[in-house]
Amino acid sequence: MYMRTDPQSLAVSAELLASGLFGKAVERYFFKLSLKSKIAMQSLGGIALRTVRSSQAIYLRSAVCYYSSSSDKSSYKCVVLGGGAGGCAMASKMARKFGAGHVAVVEPKDDSVSKNSLLPADVHPGGLWHKTIADSRQPMGKSIPKNAKWIKDSVASVDPDNNLVTTSAGLQLEYEMLIVAVGLQLDFSKIKGSIEALQKDPRVCSNYSPDYVHKTYQAFKAFPKSGGTAIFTMPVMPIKCPGAPQKIMYLFDDYLRTNDKREGSKILYNTNLPVIFGVKKYANALLEVVEERGLTVNFQHNLVEVDHTKGEATFAKVGLDPVETVTMSYDLLHIAPPMSAPDFLKGSPLANEAGYVDVSKEHLQHNKYENVFAIGDCSSAPTSKTAAAVAAESGILSNTIDAYLKGQKPSGLEYDGYTSCPLITKGGKTILAEFDYNAQPLETFPINQGKERRTMWHLKKDFMPFLYWNMLIRGHWHGPRIFRKLLHLGMGK
Ligand SMILES: Cc1cc2nc3c(=O)[nH]c(=O)nc-3n(C[C@H](O)[C@H](O)[C@H](O)COP(=O)(O)OP(=O)(O)OC[C@H]3O[C@@H](n4cnc5c(N)ncnc54)[C@H](O)[C@@H]3O)c2cc1C
Repeated sequence: MYMRTDPQSLAVSAELLASGLFGKAVERYFFKLSLKSKIAMQSLGGIALRTVRSSQAIYLRSAVCYYSSSSDKSSYKCVVLGGGAGGCAMASKMARKFGAGHVAVVEPKDDSVSKNSLLPADVHPGGLWHKTIADSRQPMGKSIPKNAKWIKDSVASVDPDNNLVTTSAGLQLEYEMLIVAVGLQLDFSKIKGSIEALQKDPRVCSNYSPDYVHKTYQAFKAFPKSGGTAIFTMPVMPIKCPGAPQKIMYLFDDYLRTNDKREGSKILYNTNLPVIFGVKKYANALLEVVEERGLTVNFQHNLVEVDHTKGEATFAKVGLDPVETVTMSYDLLHIAPPMSAPDFLKGSPLANEAGYVDVSKEHLQHNKYENVFAIGDCSSAPTSKTAAAVAAESGILSNTIDAYLKGQKPSGLEYDGYTSCPLITKGGKTILAEFDYNAQPLETFPINQGKERRTMWHLKKDFMPFLYWNMLIRGHWHGPRIFRKLLHLGMGK
């Protein structure tokens, strides 16, 4: 095993030397490095090297990251898997805690996408949206904290018994602590013909995929002026943001009305579920919206096949044995695909039977491996999977990790499952659903949030993107709990 001699690590070492943490033994070790390394070390470390005479030796491994004798293996105090909402939030926190060079983030994508902005980014009914697709993304390098190491690769496997992550390119990352935040994968392949339809049929779109979201507004514009049938689908749960499949339906209805195309058109919401929304209060409000706008809801209809050559979608009627299907023609089809944990997790020692990272729902610490934690959509915490949930979880997880680092069991505040879904019901109106593990409303504002409101629309459209990019992924936003307490004069949950 040898010390890393690249400038970044040397800079880290110099920083640590300057703080007086190394003893003479470590200093001697540095001076045995090659001449080239010494020159780099001295230029980077500078004065630091002269200040270490009286410092204490500490265990090398917890001071700097290092490579083993094989140059494709490296070690970190904390490895974060995934650079989405939860990964960036936690990497920011951990990098602040441990300092430069101690945290690595494994994330294969170039672009960081705020998925909760995908809707407003792509749809402009009545000119009310002033955003573009570009507003919903930024380069990944801007989202991953600067003092964390971005490993641009995907995770192939995790061996938690040996604290080892292996990437697709064969890199091996040793960790002291692991945070899993790899989200959900989109399983379009489970709907026969859907990928081909998304690729070839301009009438078929999906806001769920950054690859196809741009088709949604195009399909809106191409919808026949003379009328037609638009179908919006909702798959088997769990999915991320279960409100999104119907938000886009309300916006489509609004689009047709503002463009004088609504008459003669049928709009269907075909959902696998027996209810329109999982929380009774908001479900009742949404059923009123559906009724008032003349939208048709077909419960327990699960999309199983798309034949784009015929413009037909086939649905299995849920719960019937033998299976019964119904085929419907479409002029626009918006698909919300089934989702699952990324393949490398399924069947791994970290996963529960369903494939999600098996953590305690109160503290997000792994039930078997105490140095492993999970946040966001890939965790087994049984909440509705949203970025709002990620925010609340990041505060809880931070406390859990603090306790773990002190060798204690997590205590104090427990995660109550807080999650939120801004249900846009038309341009200018939103119902802000907020609730907990028990599907009980947990509303921030002391007004009835089950009503369509313009204030909530502005909150969603104008404030939430700011919150996402500047607070949440920087690890500074733990959800609205404090504001909820204040606004309810300390009397709410
Ligand atoms: C259309 C849409 C609308 C939404 N609207 C809202 C909303 O209004 N409000 C709200 O709160 N939430 C909303 N959400 C949900 C929200 O975006 C997610 O719940 C949130 O992003 C989850 O964060 P995460 O970190 O768990 O996963 P993600 O943000 O999805 O990040 C996971 C990351 O892991 C990476 N990854 C995957 N596999 C691997 C691997 N093998 N190795 C390394 N990295 C990997 C991915 O590339 C990705 O960057 C919406 C989602 C969608 C799709």
